[in-house]
Amino acid sequence: MTHFFETDLALLRGITPARLSLLQTELGLFTYGDLIQYFPFRYEDRTAIYSIDQITEQMEHAQFVGRIRYKEKIGQGLKQRLVAQCCDESGCIELVWFQGIKWLEKTLTPGVDYLFYGKPTSFNGQMQITHPEMEVYKGKAQNDTYFHPVYSLTDKLRKKYIDSKVIAQLQKNVLQVAFPYIRETLPAEIIQQFKLISKQEALYHIHLPQSENWLHQAKRRLKFEELFYNQLRLIKQNLVRKTAFPGQVFSSAALLTNFYQNHMPFELTNAQKKVIREIFQDMKSGQQMNRLLQGDVGSGKTIVAFIAMLLAIDNGTQACLMAPTEILADQHYQGLKKFADLLDIRIAKLTGSTKKKDRQVLHEDLASGKLHILVGTHAIFEDVVQFHNLGLCIIDEQHRFGVAQRAKLWDKNKQTHPHVMVMTATPIPRTLAMTLYGDLDISIIDEMPAGRKAIQTIHRYDSHRLQVFGFIQNELSKGRQVYIVYPLIEESEKMDFKDLMDGFESISRAFPEVPLGILHGKMKSADKDFEMARFVKNETKIMVATTVIEVGVNVPNASIMIIESAERFGLAQLHQLRGRVGRGAEQSYCILMTDYKLSADTKKRIETMVRTNNGFEIAEVDLQLRGPGDLGGTRQSGAIDLMIADLAKDGEILKVARETAQKILDEDPQLTQPNHQMIREQVAHQRRDTTNWAKIS
Ligand code: ADP
Ligand code: MG
Repeated sequence: MTHFFETDLALLRGITPARLSLLQTELGLFTYGDLIQYFPFRYEDRTAIYSIDQITEQMEHAQFVGRIRYKEKIGQGLKQRLVAQCCDESGCIELVWFQGIKWLEKTLTPGVDYLFYGKPTSFNGQMQITHPEMEVYKGKAQNDTYFHPVYSLTDKLRKKYIDSKVIAQLQKNVLQVAFPYIRETLPAEIIQQFKLISKQEALYHIHLPQSENWLHQAKRRLKFEELFYNQLRLIKQNLVRKTAFPGQVFSSAALLTNFYQNHMPFELTNAQKKVIREIFQDMKSGQQMNRLLQGDVGSGKTIVAFIAMLLAIDNGTQACLMAPTEILADQHYQGLKKFADLLDIRIAKLTGSTKKKDRQVLHEDLASGKLHILVGTHAIFEDVVQFHNLGLCIIDEQHRFGVAQRAKLWDKNKQTHPHVMVMTATPIPRTLAMTLYGDLDISIIDEMPAGRKAIQTIHRYDSHRLQVFGFIQNELSKGRQVYIVYPLIEESEKMDFKDLMDGFESISRAFPEVPLGILHGKMKSADKDFEMARFVKNETKIMVATTVIEVGVNVPNASIMIIESAERFGLAQLHQLRGRVGRGAEQSYCILMTDYKLSADTKKRIETMVRTNNGFEIAEVDLQLRGPGDLGGTRQSGAIDLMIADLAKDGEILKVARETAQKILDEDPQLTQPNHQMIREQVAHQRRDTTNWAKIS
């Protein structure tokens, strides 16, 4: 049966060899199935027919029925055009054509009712439409006055006259022959329970909706199906992983108790305690842990990571912590080393710039088990890096690493996969987390350590720079430190670099007495480390930097974050940058500097930043503004290849779909019950699809 949908598009009525090759190269459509699953991205409302006197310039499009009163050819050569006056009982409108004049002169017949559709404009007080779509009007029932699908097309296709109308016609042709072969893909109980329309109906009305309600039902049905199987797959993967991958059982906790009783630098928040309990439960369970630890910037994930490491070390295994940049790896290393030294734990750092002879020693100590903790960057992935017995692997700032890399880490331990925890400070909206990380267990630190003052965020225009400088001066005199961040975006790297350097100069002029530091991606890593270290030691007071300081850097005495050209940063990035301050006991400030002219989206971003410090709230706004495809980490993860559901809008359907999938798998984890046969087949079928797809790409 699936065979039918694999039929070559060449065999479809309406497909010429030229069209076929364009559909293949431009849209990647090869088979009947491909075409049917090429859904419209919006619809034009053709249900309403207006009388001519109702038509206004404000209308996006107008559809009306009228007769040609007279027509006239005006002008010469390229400027030649055909102008016709078209009227109904209510009034008249002008129609203009620049092309196809000969043909129109012949066919446009006075006295015949036509259905016109186009964009109204006003010209010298006269309403007119240029190049309206038209057909002879045969009455509402005969003409297809309903929602017209609009497909996403390329210029190349349009040049060859393949427009949405053509695609819709092809859909009509393919649906005609394919209709009897379209199988139901959801079980009857689910269809009944949620009052969904059938798969056949849904596919028909998604392309050729006969009414607004049918269209709505078709979308709802297809979105539900997509999200249901997406969630089913993720929950199932999680189940399989848990049973297939046993974890090392960590039960003794001598070191941990020692640390807790004698060396804890502060009282843990309740949220930290809760999360640690969840982690420990996993690490004792006998199943491999795969946990996502979400916590806003400054919520204290590092200490949680360290405590988890202690449990691993307590049980004779090693731990590693991986960070996305050298600066961060170093910061983690320095922070953890202080604790490690107290407890006689051996810790080392491995990054791209680790010297060869140091590496040699490090590799040996790691393989022999002499080293307990390895902190590093991507360098840890290299095959030469072999652990004696890796028990726990922690990845900081997950969004910079792909899923494939996560999997690679599992193999670092030959006997049993290590427990894996990924930490992210980029809060992810609930719907995204469910689809992106649906195969992970999620822990959330939703509480800040006590005594923190909320960061105050302020928006200032560039013209107020002098006042901002005055403010900086004032805070410096209180002993605080300051970050000033410039955007550095690849496409315009040269210019950005100039901005950064100009900025640095003007700041040195404004604060001649103040020691400054500078940090950007072009610097050698040793120089970066040097600059960062000076700032950490409070030897420099102002750090002028690009977004290399975005992630994780911790200098509690820095209380002011100035973001230059804030309009050029995304919300997640702004929030990350702001998180560099507010880490000490002092009141911190974040000042967003922008140009006067701001787009609506930018205004929304700035206003959101000023309004709230809550990362989850910010993530929701980000999702609404940008859509799921652009949010951190989603692209490289490949986890979101949804065809019709939209994670920014379909949260409710997703929730229901997930609950339904969960319930079914709770009852019948292997999907062996007869009433789940259809689901089982569908899951197997989808798996085949994805593997094929992986091979192609
Ligand atoms: P993040 O979650 O952004 O990685 P960190 O782990 O760097 O946050 O913690 C931010 C700061 O808060 C650090 O200086 C850390 O020592 C401190 N901190 C963490 N937990 C607590 C706590 N329970 N009480 C007080 N300070 C804490
Ligand atoms: Mg951190």
